[in-house]
Amino acid sequence: MREKNSSLDFDRITYLLNPEQFADKCITIVGLGSGGAPVCDHLVMNGIRIWELYDPDTLESENLVKHPRMRQDLGRLKVDIQKEWIEDRNPNAEVKAFAEDVMKSSNFIESVRRSSLVLSCSDKKSVREFVSDQCVAAKIPSVTASVFRTGIGGEVFGYIPNETGCYKCLQLYSELNEINLSDDALGLTVEEQQRIYGLEEREFRASGLSIDIQMIALIQARMALSILLRDSTLSMSRLKSNWIVYGNRPAKGIFRSHFEAKQMLLRPQKVCNCTSQYNLQE
Ligand SMILES: [Zn+2]
Repeated sequence: MREKNSSLDFDRITYLLNPEQFADKCITIVGLGSGGAPVCDHLVMNGIRIWELYDPDTLESENLVKHPRMRQDLGRLKVDIQKEWIEDRNPNAEVKAFAEDVMKSSNFIESVRRSSLVLSCSDKKSVREFVSDQCVAAKIPSVTASVFRTGIGGEVFGYIPNETGCYKCLQLYSELNEINLSDDALGLTVEEQQRIYGLEEREFRASGLSIDIQMIALIQARMALSILLRDSTLSMSRLKSNWIVYGNRPAKGIFRSHFEAKQMLLRPQKVCNCTSQYNLQE
């Protein structure tokens, strides 16, 4: 018989990690779409129980080819669906749901300050930059993930205050080294041309398949665990890189083969204002 309202039993995984380490750690996640939802799911199963969720959107029928939730949830807020999922999986979870755009929210900065880590899973670059700036100002670690156009691959970037570069450092480093990973190297799809130029949806990017998105989501979840467990004495080894670029499939000028991964540790860039914050603190 299945027990109702029992707690989540971690016995099978405690040799790898101790979920009690996460007992009082709050995680804020921005974006619960086809990338954010699976990142959250995996971290819940690995013991993260205190969540603050941000996403203003509802689940729509066109999401069903990518988003893991059920048809019966169509029309509901993604944060409410996710809250229900988390509480079902771990009855000891504490979840706050904010159906808000973080760039207009009066609650977001407080959520960031309460958090041990912020997960940035928006498909809009402007939102990712905004979230990063808030985390830098509040000195809270973050992990940002984005999927490249058409799902050819994606990147995951972790920020640890006083230790790694921030998301802006990543942009500066890429410009300085003429690294252009996605947007201009491929030709625009017909839909992109219509949405970007016809409808002036400047941030529209053609989506990938669910598998393309979830590959990047899994890397983001792994990096989140690595950062949360960075002071742990348990055996799981820590990631040595904070910037992972992952190719799902070959793409001209970007990835030569399937499953190509590049990774590096990006330190704070002198030209970035996140370093002046470090100096102020010292
Ligand atoms: Zn920086």
